[in-house]
Amino acid sequence: MPIDRKSLDVFFQNVTNSDSHEKEEKNFIKRISTYIEGQKWMRKPLSISPAVCSQYGWICINSNLLECETCGAKLCCPELNIEFYDAYKACIEKLLQDLKSNHKPYCPWPLTPAPDCFLQMPTLPKEESFKHFTRRLKSSFQCLSDFPQIQDEIFSLLGLEKHHIKELCKLSEIDSEKIEQYGMSGVTLASTGWMLKKNKEEQIFITCDSCQRSIWSKVFTLIIPNKNEVTSASQDNKDTSLTEEPSVTPSKRIKKEDFNPLEEHRPWCLWIITKKENCNSQCEDNSCEETEDINNTPGWKIFINSLLKNICESQESNIKSRPSKEQIRSARDLLDTWTNVAE
Ligand SMILES: [Zn+2]
Ligand SMILES: [Zn+2]
Repeated sequence: MPIDRKSLDVFFQNVTNSDSHEKEEKNFIKRISTYIEGQKWMRKPLSISPAVCSQYGWICINSNLLECETCGAKLCCPELNIEFYDAYKACIEKLLQDLKSNHKPYCPWPLTPAPDCFLQMPTLPKEESFKHFTRRLKSSFQCLSDFPQIQDEIFSLLGLEKHHIKELCKLSEIDSEKIEQYGMSGVTLASTGWMLKKNKEEQIFITCDSCQRSIWSKVFTLIIPNKNEVTSASQDNKDTSLTEEPSVTPSKRIKKEDFNPLEEHRPWCLWIITKKENCNSQCEDNSCEETEDINNTPGWKIFINSLLKNICESQESNIKSRPSKEQIRSARDLLDTWTNVAE
């Protein structure tokens, strides 16, 4: 059955629009959600992750069936059993082929799949990574009462130091009084893809837009606000939850954990996955050591490397605009010489 003209027109309209990238990303995320809803695609190998299948237009009907959202073609995915490794591997390779070739004639997906940057972290220009970072950071700072404590070992792993935190908050125009208490948590969340968001019931969730993981903040240890902030918060919005807290006896509390911003992403999330994992064994050859390094770098690291360029350079320009003591001294000497000559 040939695909109908209308859906093809809509598809090409989307591709040629100036804001097509944003639309395309939205549609990509929508397709991914079909795999997540009802946990239909649980325990499938990383090489056929929801992101990989969505790249070629497939939505998930059930754990054994995909459907192309444009041409309506169906694709069966048999149960995979890793105990029979050769058959397992052959099955995955066939499925990867079918994702591209099993569309109906004239379906645009084989020729125009969603861009790779939806599946793995691209190396962004520093301005671009700062833009995304600051959007997440500012949004999270609207939910101060629910900032999770971050597992200690994460900071050194991410390479985020105290002065980075301060600088990044300042560049994002975060209220300086809040930086000391919430900066570490806020910057770590925003630079690893997380954002605090309120749902309709005013509950706050820690959310990743890429893998669509969303966890109720209250399951983690939260940063306890300073006393004066508690009073101002309860005066501001008459939120009684903060004042109710102390009545709960410690023994009744469930043991909560600090947030681990890396482990909470789904394993195929672009914040976690490396290029090598994503393109499986068929990746172009990695003979060069440098390519090997890049292919093994997880998404969060690529992002933070780009993000930190914003402060390194802003500090450098600060230094450049402020003359050193030596420069001042030599300028003064020069002036003295001139005055002497004039006399
Ligand atoms: Zn198709
Ligand atoms: Zn994620």
